[in-house]
Amino acid sequence: MRIALLSRNRRLYSSRRLIEAAEKRGHEVQVIDVLRCYMNIVSAKPSVQLEGQPLTGFDAVIPRIGASVTAYGTSVIRQFEMMGVYPLIESVALARSRDKLRALQLLSRKGIGLPVTGFANKPGDTKDLIKMVGGAPLVIKLLEGTQGIGVVLAETNKAAESVIEAFMGVRANILVQEFIEEAGGSDIRCLVVGGKVVAAMRRQAPEGEFRSNLHRGGSASLVKITPTERATAVAAAKILGLSVAGVDLLRSKRGPLVMEVNSSPGLEGIESASGKDVAGIIIEYLEKNAKHGRTATRGRG
Ligand code: ADP
Repeated sequence: MRIALLSRNRRLYSSRRLIEAAEKRGHEVQVIDVLRCYMNIVSAKPSVQLEGQPLTGFDAVIPRIGASVTAYGTSVIRQFEMMGVYPLIESVALARSRDKLRALQLLSRKGIGLPVTGFANKPGDTKDLIKMVGGAPLVIKLLEGTQGIGVVLAETNKAAESVIEAFMGVRANILVQEFIEEAGGSDIRCLVVGGKVVAAMRRQAPEGEFRSNLHRGGSASLVKITPTERATAVAAAKILGLSVAGVDLLRSKRGPLVMEVNSSPGLEGIESASGKDVAGIIIEYLEKNAKHGRTATRGRG
């Protein structure tokens, strides 16, 4: 296969591992910076250009699109779909997973367990918003935040009100969520590939912290997940239309709750915690599925 890896940095662990796994199996990989691609939309024959050359002859495209380039990255993937190139992550699925409100709405529609979550733009009544999600303790999250930055625990209603109003004051988009205390500062990352959980890890926050992000000093370990957790992770990826996804679960008294579904999951933490060759599994999935024109939407989304 000829594979286009849409990545801005070939030296990142996940990019390196995917290149290595593909080359080991005899495939050819071209790393492409999406921001340097350009497209002629009016042309009847869709194409993607890079440095004066059309990008042709690819069997598959692997998007590793950073959050800040979601919109442009999605349109480059869509263009490849219109050309019939098989995308590991479809443009529509990427867009769904990156819009937290849309993703949570789609999951709730199908009855997936979720922490009680409130969304607001400019709530006239902050107290009612707090009451609606069950009151303090509450987690308030900046929608644009990643790696745990902008995730705040408000232990009292008064603190929650101040934090919400402060975020509103700087026009930040936020969500307000029930605090799952019994998760004990840990969450479970399930790596789903092709409808199966192929690896899982438990991330534990350091003492005195509730955020388990590895970037916030959390530690990862191997975990055995329950059949319900497995089914929940697989269903969440399917609902969003993701063939590869990192599904983050919180263990709660009422069962597994989906916190987030990540469409460009990092491979470093999960490969080292689980000892699995996740990059290899992803390439094998492509070998079985990358057929010309075989996408659910073919750029229609
Ligand atoms: P980010 O996308 O920035 O990583 P998350 O929403 O994943 O933000 O939150 C960061 C961490 O905070 C999670 O990994 C989890 O450990 C903790 N956390 C987030 N939401 C909740 C919640 N509702 N209840 C308990 N812990 C939470």
